[in-house]
Amino acid sequence: MGKYKPVIGLEIHVQLSTRTKLFCSCSADVFNSAPNTHICPVCTGQPGALPVTNEEAIEYAVKAAYAMNFKVHEYSRFDRKNYFYPDLPKGYQITQYFHPIATNGYLELDVDGKKKKVRLRRLHVEEDAGKMIHEGDSMSAKSFVDYNRSGVPLIEIVTEPDIESPKEARLFLEKLRSIVRYIGISSGDMEKGALRCDANISVVDEESGRSSNRVEVKNMNSFKFVERALEYEYSRIVNAMKNGENVPQETRGWITRDKRTISMRSKEEESDYRYFPEPDIPPVVISKEKLEYIRRSLPELPDEKKKRFMDEYGLPEYDASVITSDKDLADLYEMTVKITGKPKETSNWFMTELLRMMNEKGVDDVENLKVTPQHFKEIFDLIDSGRVTKNMAKEVFREVFETGKSPSEVVRNKGLEVVTDEARIKEILLEAMKRNPKAVEQYRSGKQGVIGYFIGQVMKATGGKADPKVVQKVFQGIIKN
Ligand code: ADP
Ligand code: MG
Ligand code: ZN
Repeated sequence: MGKYKPVIGLEIHVQLSTRTKLFCSCSADVFNSAPNTHICPVCTGQPGALPVTNEEAIEYAVKAAYAMNFKVHEYSRFDRKNYFYPDLPKGYQITQYFHPIATNGYLELDVDGKKKKVRLRRLHVEEDAGKMIHEGDSMSAKSFVDYNRSGVPLIEIVTEPDIESPKEARLFLEKLRSIVRYIGISSGDMEKGALRCDANISVVDEESGRSSNRVEVKNMNSFKFVERALEYEYSRIVNAMKNGENVPQETRGWITRDKRTISMRSKEEESDYRYFPEPDIPPVVISKEKLEYIRRSLPELPDEKKKRFMDEYGLPEYDASVITSDKDLADLYEMTVKITGKPKETSNWFMTELLRMMNEKGVDDVENLKVTPQHFKEIFDLIDSGRVTKNMAKEVFREVFETGKSPSEVVRNKGLEVVTDEARIKEILLEAMKRNPKAVEQYRSGKQGVIGYFIGQVMKATGGKADPKVVQKVFQGIIKN
């Protein structure tokens, strides 16, 4: 990116998939529920209601922290962040400001084959706010509030400004999502708001050493949009710097429809949150033993799994990292290898046919796949026994992917099999010879080339799926007798 170097830091909110909310016993599974059906005096901020900390949420936060190499603290505490907005009925959000549960973590990325460490400043637990819904135009506008999301547990992870390109920002988020899904603390689904990211970017002019102000971009609900919004901001800031203009420090929003960002508010207008310790909730104290227990209960993480796949199955680093990026995909791979005994072949089919079909058909959840390890085994067997060619096998796979039918059934239904059945070929040939006795005569009188005509007839009858060598052999057999 030339002499203008982007400096990027992210603040990520991850919705924890606990059974209940952070401080009450309302269900935390609120996506797609009718408005205001998961609420109680605690999460709607009624006077006198007392919050009680959800231990499961704390455990999930600790898991996430260890999975991201954080130092986890035995003592942390909740604070009140005060501001007024209709989606926040208490008038403050409960978060951890002065004593976060974890500090000093890092994640390692693969950027174009190179390892890159992104330092993580802090991880803390906080509650989500409600959701505003605006309807109508300015003359007859109505606003509604849905408090279902109020009090849903989140963790916030803040990176150091170590990220050096929009692409790195996307890779970072993909890695983070992969981890939270591996450890089962969140769906990590950006479209559903279970993973939300605010991106901060400034630009350094490496020649003069001058640095632009920092801009924060909000409202991005996909990895692609984070990357695009940052690319947009980068060129906007660089242009301003080239023209000697000042870039104000502000918060901007990504407008997907227009593929651009717009100013939302300047940093100066940002409220003073008057943080103070939350008086109604005791500090979070976790014993060393408990922390150690949680740390040891972590499953194999993406990086470890990738390394094991390279060692155990001899996969190239790239294949291993693609297949282990999703835990369910990695599990499917291992189950398939177990019954096919072919790690490399299985990986090839995963990397090309499977991922391509998932992409094409918009299936991103491995859990919803109709293909099974047994299907892969059957397909490999069909190829090995010469019953279908590799290309036909790919066609069979597409059908298996869409219908969940077994490969041999698809082959049968579509009549895809290579015809090596000599009796069937003989039948077709005899028929053709009966129709055209002249050609037979020509062959007998030495016109060898006529055999091409008969091969053509068999091909026509089998839809091109006969083996010409076999046809030739059968034809000569008939002539001799
Ligand atoms: P604030 O207190 O204003 O929110 P922080 O220091 O907490 O600022 O940083 C918030 C986020 O901004 C972090 O993710 C951090 O990495 C990022 N950040 C800090 N300085 C810069 C910078 N100069 N350019 C880009 N991002 C930055
Ligand atoms: Mg901040
Ligand atoms: Zn509640």
